[in-house]
Amino acid sequence: MLEVKGIDNGIVIDHIHAGNGLKIFNLLFTDTQQPVVLLMNVKSELLGRKDIIKVENVFDVNLDLLGLLDQKITVNVIRDGKLAEKMKTSVPKTIKGGMKCHNPRCITHSDDYAIPEFILVKANGKLEYECSYCEEITVYKL
Ligand SMILES: [Zn+2]
Repeated sequence: MLEVKGIDNGIVIDHIHAGNGLKIFNLLFTDTQQPVVLLMNVKSELLGRKDIIKVENVFDVNLDLLGLLDQKITVNVIRDGKLAEKMKTSVPKTIKGGMKCHNPRCITHSDDYAIPEFILVKANGKLEYECSYCEEITVYKL
């Protein structure tokens, strides 16, 4: 078994579906100056295989974004070597920015000031979001 030391202060993003770890790393942590560990294909009783990301000295993470990617993720906040908080991800009900409207004629593509807002209308297998500007449905894809 591969040994990686725990962290004293920071976050541990656990129960990431194996294969999603790198995507999450690329989305959230490529710009960080803090030490980051990405563990891939760790044995898990729950998932068979999982990925884990540990980030030192960071206590905030975009839970909505994580929830879009993967709803089984748990985020553990570690302070002074102890578990301070445990957070679970869920599918976000609304998304502001971070996703492009499916409608090519939507104002959000031509106007930089119109930041698209999306409202979850269906979360049955695939996630469908309605654009607040044009009401077009966009299916979320990673
Ligand atoms: Zn739109």
